[in-house]
Amino acid sequence: MTEPSEVTSFDPDQLQEDFKRYYKDHFDRTILHRIFKNKPFGTREFAVLRMDMNTWVRNRSFENMDVLIEYLTLYPAKGVYIGALYEEPLTREKTIHNTKWMGRELLFDLDMDAYDPVRTCECSGRKVCEICWVHMQEAALIIDDTLRIDFGFSDLVWVYTGGRGYHCWVLDDSTFTLTRDQRVAIISYMQLIIGDEVKELGPNEKFMKNRILNHLARNFVTHSKESLLKEEAGFGTTTAKRMKDKIETVSSPREILELAPNTDDFFKGVIKHRYPRIDQGVSVDLKKVIRMPGSVHFGTRNVSEIIDNPWDFNPIFHAKSIYEVMGDE
Ligand SMILES: [Zn+2]
Repeated sequence: MTEPSEVTSFDPDQLQEDFKRYYKDHFDRTILHRIFKNKPFGTREFAVLRMDMNTWVRNRSFENMDVLIEYLTLYPAKGVYIGALYEEPLTREKTIHNTKWMGRELLFDLDMDAYDPVRTCECSGRKVCEICWVHMQEAALIIDDTLRIDFGFSDLVWVYTGGRGYHCWVLDDSTFTLTRDQRVAIISYMQLIIGDEVKELGPNEKFMKNRILNHLARNFVTHSKESLLKEEAGFGTTTAKRMKDKIETVSSPREILELAPNTDDFFKGVIKHRYPRIDQGVSVDLKKVIRMPGSVHFGTRNVSEIIDNPWDFNPIFHAKSIYEVMGDE
């Protein structure tokens, strides 16, 4: 099973009309109110990938939500993206490069294709299935927990992108004016996989170790073959087999750790195969645009929506296409 699948055959004129109708009559405005909170609307950067011209319109702001929706009703959008907040509305003369940057939410981007080296199913690239999506659910658990407990943030919004990943919007006011360097520091703390290398956890990193143990260890054993447990987590042949046989009945993740001959190797294996793989660019580049929650993902026709429990959501079963939202099917 490889849904949500990309739609490859369609009538382009009809599609443009469908997208325009979605934004005109079915776009959920409460989503943008939630994301923007009390921040000004009219000086925000939007970027639209126009379906009719197949070109990007960047560096664009809209006076208010009505004007944005009117635009998307007139011009069919292949993708709609949100950038930072600026001091003045963006025009041909006042661009993001010569207008004062005012702030932007702290963002996290998780994309299934970053997991290609460790997926245990048949998927790669844009494909996702119910097996590999578990990586996304685990990543949401870990990141949500880390942001709340280690950093003290509380206003988090999780968004299904409509395709193969999640975005997390951290909306606490204190994040809005974080500098690039401060965002790099947050990401660096959270990132434990750099290229192919796994960062070693020191004895003081108890929060992180407990989190990994509680949220990832069980799935690591369940989803990994015995040979992988041996090679990547230091299990011997007998313990690897015992662990696999026993995993359904293990009541606490600590029991798994107790069976591991070497806890450092065990943590390394779990991190490499299950720990979140965060796309740093989206979090630290203050000018990068990100898919607008509530917009439609062109490849799948799914709506990008706010998800209350991303650890339970699975797009194979729960994603909504624009046609479902519009009542066409
Ligand atoms: Zn898969």
